[in-house]
Amino acid sequence: MKALRYQGTRDVRIETVPDPAIVDARDMILKVTSCAICGSDLHLYDGLIPTLLKGDILGHEFMGEVVEVGREVRSVKPGDRVVVPFNISCGDCFFCKRELWSLCDRSNPNAALASKQFGYAPAGLFGYSHMFGGYPGGQAEYVRVPFADINHVKIESDLSDEQVLFIGDIFATGFMAVDVCGVQPGDVVAVWGCGPVGLFALRSAKMLGAERVVAIDRFPERLDLAKMKCDAITIDYEKTDVLDALKELTSGRGPDICIDAVGMEAHGHGLEFWYDRAKQAVGLQPDRPTVLRQAVMACRKGGTVSVPGVYGGHIDHFPFGAAFNKGLTLKMGQTHTHHYAPALLKRIESREIDPSFVVTHRLHLEEAPKGYDIFQNKKEGCIKVVLKP
Ligand code: NAD
Ligand code: ZN
Repeated sequence: MKALRYQGTRDVRIETVPDPAIVDARDMILKVTSCAICGSDLHLYDGLIPTLLKGDILGHEFMGEVVEVGREVRSVKPGDRVVVPFNISCGDCFFCKRELWSLCDRSNPNAALASKQFGYAPAGLFGYSHMFGGYPGGQAEYVRVPFADINHVKIESDLSDEQVLFIGDIFATGFMAVDVCGVQPGDVVAVWGCGPVGLFALRSAKMLGAERVVAIDRFPERLDLAKMKCDAITIDYEKTDVLDALKELTSGRGPDICIDAVGMEAHGHGLEFWYDRAKQAVGLQPDRPTVLRQAVMACRKGGTVSVPGVYGGHIDHFPFGAAFNKGLTLKMGQTHTHHYAPALLKRIESREIDPSFVVTHRLHLEEAPKGYDIFQNKKEGCIKVVLKP
């Protein structure tokens, strides 16, 4: 089959590899009908996630048709159309039973590698380095899905792939980022980053009852989409001081909820940015926490800072004193996709939202290397790339 393989920093190629096979009685094999490139793939592409090896197949946002199931699989059969959550969960461990799906204790065969970095290992992820299990990803014609009974959401309506694909990752991620903050009527929610995750956080904040949502980015097409599709007030951080603007919008009090939908590769200016960038370049600090620092400083006293943006290691100059003395609540983590995806599918089926509004580029799988380039460099107004094998 054809699959997208990592070769080295900013070098990915479509190559022919052996088809995946059932290796455990609980597996299924999926024929991928659509997959997407996620902001999280960009951290891999930029060589910032350790334990990713040359030849690894990327991709964790995908859906398709079941073509084969293992002996013990009960709830899916060949021919079923499914979306697969990006995190792999067993459904049966301490964490899965508590709906902490992204923290599954059994799906990461390389738990020792991750435990060294994090104390304990999170769940395995598709196409996301060996520390996260070394599973081949779904930017491919076929993919093996472990624990098939748990890791799927069946699509039984005639909604298109583009309309349902994102419940397996970015829509669930934007939604959870807001949901964990317990939005109250009257709340102002500020979101840094108007990539797909930020856009879904903005839309979700409105769906969950926020009074006003504020979108922060520098790309006009992204800010326009935030305004048009998410009813957001927009701030171009290149032109405006973000903290001043947020203060002004909230009568001097600060937003109730501040969401970092940017993560470890934040763009920035001045000494602070170059300090972070230099430390990142020599491997002293894997993350550039520009946005996280701003979100903590901007948040109102007693408010919540929510972090769907991915961080991988240590951060420096974090204003922990501000978080402490303002009594902030911090929320973060890989999305508990299995918890959110079925409910989000219902919202899509009832026409409350059509998630395909984020898609700007539809490419053939063979064009995936171009997809990575335009998505990473925000060329051609690219906001979200969907690939079709
Ligand atoms: P993206 O690259 O399309 O979007 C990031 C956006 O942040 C860009 O529009 C960029 O211009 C903006 N940005 C950069 N620096 C900024 C700054 N200083 N202030 C404001 N905006 C700034 O990526 P995406 O697909 O939207 O993903 C966003 C983040 O969410 C990534 O870190 C990704 O890894 C993460 N993510 C996390 C999960 C999870 O489970 N928690 C799931 C999916 C994605
Ligand atoms: Zn993702």
